[in-house]
Amino acid sequence: MYKNISWAILTLLLITITFSLLFGNQSQTEKITVNQLAADINSGQVDKITVQGNTLNIDIKDGKKAVAEKEAELGLTQTLGNYGVKPDALQKVSLEIKNESGFQFWIGILLPTLLPLIVIGIIFWVIFRQAKTGANQAFSFGRSNVRLFGAFKDRITFNDVAGLKEAKQELEEVVDFLKNPKKFLEMGARIPRGVLLMGSPGTGKTLLARAVAGESGVPFFYISASEFVEMFVGVGAARTRDVFQTAKKAAPSILFIDEIDAVGRERGTGLGGGHDEREQTLNQILVEMDGFDRDTNIIVIAATNRPDILDRALLRPGRFDRRVILDLPDLNDREAILKIHAKNKPLEQNLDLRKVAVRTPGFSGADLANLMNEAAIFTARNNRKIINQNDLFSSIEKVLLGPERKGRVISQKEKEITAFHEAGHALIAASLKDSDPVHKISIIGRGRAGGYTIKLPIEDIHLKTKSQFTAELATLMGGYVSEKEIFKDISTGASNDLKEATKLAHTMVTQYGMSEKMGPMTFGESHELVFLGKEISSEKNYSETIAAEIDKEIKLLIDQAYKTAQKIISLRKKVLENIAKTLMEKETLEQEEFYGLLKKFNLKPIMV
Ligand code: ADP
Ligand code: MG
Ligand code: ZN
Repeated sequence: MYKNISWAILTLLLITITFSLLFGNQSQTEKITVNQLAADINSGQVDKITVQGNTLNIDIKDGKKAVAEKEAELGLTQTLGNYGVKPDALQKVSLEIKNESGFQFWIGILLPTLLPLIVIGIIFWVIFRQAKTGANQAFSFGRSNVRLFGAFKDRITFNDVAGLKEAKQELEEVVDFLKNPKKFLEMGARIPRGVLLMGSPGTGKTLLARAVAGESGVPFFYISASEFVEMFVGVGAARTRDVFQTAKKAAPSILFIDEIDAVGRERGTGLGGGHDEREQTLNQILVEMDGFDRDTNIIVIAATNRPDILDRALLRPGRFDRRVILDLPDLNDREAILKIHAKNKPLEQNLDLRKVAVRTPGFSGADLANLMNEAAIFTARNNRKIINQNDLFSSIEKVLLGPERKGRVISQKEKEITAFHEAGHALIAASLKDSDPVHKISIIGRGRAGGYTIKLPIEDIHLKTKSQFTAELATLMGGYVSEKEIFKDISTGASNDLKEATKLAHTMVTQYGMSEKMGPMTFGESHELVFLGKEISSEKNYSETIAAEIDKEIKLLIDQAYKTAQKIISLRKKVLENIAKTLMEKETLEQEEFYGLLKKFNLKPIMV
């Protein structure tokens, strides 16, 4: 922009200077007509005439100067003769014929025609120069924007990654391969070509890769697989080639392809267009990974949260032959992650992060990082300087369910219904041996929920049993049954519970073999539609008769759960009313308060 302006100014300056050089000196001399000149010559006032082209520079006797223009076609003498100059008068005037200086002559002729052209040329040049950058971009589509992660401003090391012990070990080994390839080659070992990091979103795949970049000490290239594919067909393959070339040039090096499922999806499932391009890109990746020489020291690390949909060819030995699974953090890891993210935050002195870790099973690293951040924001918004335990606890619920909706006005009736609904959930959960303990009950809306009951397992759970699922189903029914028993009516508040329950029962029957009648079999193969990336259609690989039986079994499970809930609620109506009443007063009950309340009734687990 500035360049253009200065160019324009410069051009104008040049023009002005040229003009003033050429014509500037004429301003002091008087301009006269040939007529006048003839008269002056006749009266003997003219000393000398210098002819330069058609211009006559006249020296008048008293030292004045003048200029006149003569006709182009005629000579001077003839012209003056025509104007009636007497020959003897003319003889007294000294005549000098100057050849027009070449430069001035040509400038005089060319400038008027050339100047506009020059100006236009300059304008075009400026425009073209700008367009060229665009054109370059157009021609460099095939080039990738693979980025070199060199000297990070915020260098991340393995110390910044909590937990993920196996993953770290695996990657450390890979880095070791790069640093001392000899050691391994001498043993006849082949250097692994690819490491695939698999884990649900937010488990720290990208973070771990960045840590490798910070630790490895070799060039680390980073690209997101979605950047391979763009609007134009064929770009993906070209970019892939370019990425690998760049990495190979810098070998030993690491190439990190993030979110590889964007191109690595199983080939041949192309619904929704664009899959040809993706397939070509994937093929190119396969080719490049095969193309490495045995001693090329480049290792490809890729990350995905959908390993199930990756093309099998990617996973075969010689490509991503190392697969590292990043699990959701367990209790200890969660505490460690919280510690990492608490580092630059002012925490209350006796704050216990472990208590937060206990309450957050199923949270990913990203969720935990988010939780700490929410707590900090919450504290700052309340103009406090130090984060306390309660800030962290309420952030858990915020991350889980969305922000509190304290402002929402609800009628007394609505409040009562919500209180009985949640009390129903809580009572069932507390009455069944196989249910997780209740952690908190609240009738303050959060996110889309009108109220909520949080149950948490005592330990991290990896396997679940049928009896746990049955207890879960009954607990889900608790809200519905409670409303029905107390108000003889049902509200819309239970709809989500019912949906969850139905889904759970369906999975129990069709996937987990938890129905006596259907036996240990799975039913239905789920397919996904590529462009949605979600499992939305499931193929029925069984007959209509079986389908009807499955539905019957699902109904049976739900009916049983309903009966269990009903039995508990009618047996313990007093307790239910008590919980609901307390909830209406206090709006939220923490674990201790809730179980303290139950103590009075001395409840025993109910066997069903
Ligand atoms: P993804 O697996 O989806 O690539 P990221 O690596 O982007 O997840 O993680 C998102 C954020 O979560 C990280 O920037 C980091 O703040 C936090 N995080 C995730 N896992 C961990 C961990 N193990 N230790 C510390 N922070 C973590
Ligand atoms: Mg990521
Ligand atoms: Zn409910």
